[in-house]
Amino acid sequence: MVVILLGPPGAGKGTQAARLAKRLGLAHVASGDLFREAVAAQTPLGIKAQGYMERGELVPDEIVVAMILERLAQPDCRQGAVLDGFPRTVAQAEALEEALAAQGKEVDVVLLAHVPDEVVLERLTGRRICRNCQAPYHMTFNPPTREGICDRCGGVLYQRDDDREETVRHRLRVYREQTAPLIAYYRRQGLLREVDGVGEVEEVGERLLRALGGEEAGRAWA
Ligand code: AMP
Repeated sequence: MVVILLGPPGAGKGTQAARLAKRLGLAHVASGDLFREAVAAQTPLGIKAQGYMERGELVPDEIVVAMILERLAQPDCRQGAVLDGFPRTVAQAEALEEALAAQGKEVDVVLLAHVPDEVVLERLTGRRICRNCQAPYHMTFNPPTREGICDRCGGVLYQRDDDREETVRHRLRVYREQTAPLIAYYRRQGLLREVDGVGEVEEVGERLLRALGGEEAGRAWA
C-alpha cells in the first residue's frame, strides 16, 4: 500500500505520517528527514541539498527522486509506505508513478490536510526540535518541561533554519506554485481524500484514518 500525505508545510504531515505508518504497519518515508540527516552527516547528497533547504526552496527533482526511489527499494518498504513531503511537484509524482508501475504497484490514496496560512505560520515559527532525537515541541502548544531541553532524552532543542518567519512565508509560496498543482493531478486520478488539518493531533489523526478507510476502519484503528 502506498499512501501519500499532501498539505502545506506545517500541516502536520510528519506527525501524522509517523502515526499512520505505525498503525498500518508501513514504512514512514519523509523526504525532509532524509535530507536533514544527509545535511547533518555532510554526505554528498546533504551538501547538494543544504542551500536549497536553508532558502526554503525545493531541492531539484532529479536529486529528490533518486533519493526516494533508493529509500523505497529498502526491505522495510516491501509492504508499502506512507510518503511525507514527497512528491512535491508533478514531475516527482510522474517519476514515482513510473517507478511503482515497474514493480506492478501504484499509489493507493492521497490524503490532503487543509491548514490556513495563519495557522501554518503560528505552528512553524513556534516549533522547536530536539537535536538529538528529533522530537517536536511547540513553544506555546507543547512546551518542554525545562526550557530548551527535550523531555524525552535531555537533548538541546533548536529551531530549524527554514522555520523562521520569512522562510516560512517563502515555503508557502513555493507550496502554492509548485506543489498545489498535485491536488488537481491526484483529484483527476480519483485518489484524493481531503480533511481539515486544524485541530489536536488525535483529532486530525482520526479524520485521516476515516478518510483512509471509511468510518469502520477509522474506529477499528483508533
Ligand atoms: P520538510 O521537512 O518536508 O518541510 O522538507 C524540508 C525541505 O527539504 C524543503 O523545504 C525542501 O527544501 C526539501 N525537500 C523535502 N522534500 C522535498 C521534495 N519532495 N522535493 C524537493 N525538495 C524537498
